[in-house]
Amino acid sequence: MLRLLRVLGLPIAATLACAAAPAARAEPGAHACEREPFRIVIDVGHTAQAPGATSARGVPEFAFNLKLAERIEQLLLDTGFRRSVLLITEGRSRKGLAARIKRANALGADLFLSIHHDSVPNKFLEKWKFEGKERGFSDRFSGHSIFISHDNSDRVGSLQFARLLGTQLRERGLHYTPHYTDRIMGHRQRLLVDAQAGVYRYDQLLVLRDTDMPAVLLEAGSIINRDEELRMGSDEHQTAVSAAVVDAVESFCATRRPRSPTREASRASGVSKQATAPAAAMPVRAIKQR
Ligand SMILES: [Zn+2]
Repeated sequence: MLRLLRVLGLPIAATLACAAAPAARAEPGAHACEREPFRIVIDVGHTAQAPGATSARGVPEFAFNLKLAERIEQLLLDTGFRRSVLLITEGRSRKGLAARIKRANALGADLFLSIHHDSVPNKFLEKWKFEGKERGFSDRFSGHSIFISHDNSDRVGSLQFARLLGTQLRERGLHYTPHYTDRIMGHRQRLLVDAQAGVYRYDQLLVLRDTDMPAVLLEAGSIINRDEELRMGSDEHQTAVSAAVVDAVESFCATRRPRSPTREASRASGVSKQATAPAAAMPVRAIKQR
């Protein structure tokens, strides 16, 4: 546990100062963003039971995803996106995936962002010892990557937000990894649709394909890379990514009309709070909803 805390860095401490970083750029056709009714779902990739990849130091990906998603959610709330929802799912992968999509669609959200951390195919793994235990690592690739599905019901909106996010990350000195275009990735090879912003196409990914709102998946960085794992756990990096997301959401929101107008939104919010209380049969463990 101590190791986990050390690797993941400091507790949540999002500040308004982060949001004051580079001003969001106006998109064509932009108006003032209506932050209050705009709803973004921040999806924590994987579940505690099926935690995704394992880092070079043996920490499950789910722990990294949860930490970063919480930071992003906190900054969204602090900056006035008070209907933001943190989506945490439970259960085995397949069941968890279906529950995740069902919950996201029921929330009537304007935007869906799934948070993940990357690894590599097994063939690239090398061995090292950390705290007396043999672990797998690969320092071969580093950087984030952004994915969209052309089969999402709002392909244009998905690409638009993905580009905004990639641009905001780049402006903070963060780079994307181009290795998904490489043939060595085999069935994981992807088409790069925006080489400036680092946006790839991954049409079959269910959380991107089956969510009925613009949907984007962010692999925030490679936790199988020993240096990058430490960076992913740092307060500085989590703050930069959170600020990039909030600025991208602000720009995106300024080009859209929220699905729920303000008055209806607050009324619906009161009702849905009760309706989304965790039920015994639902594999969604916690939904923080405002
Ligand atoms: Zn993942």
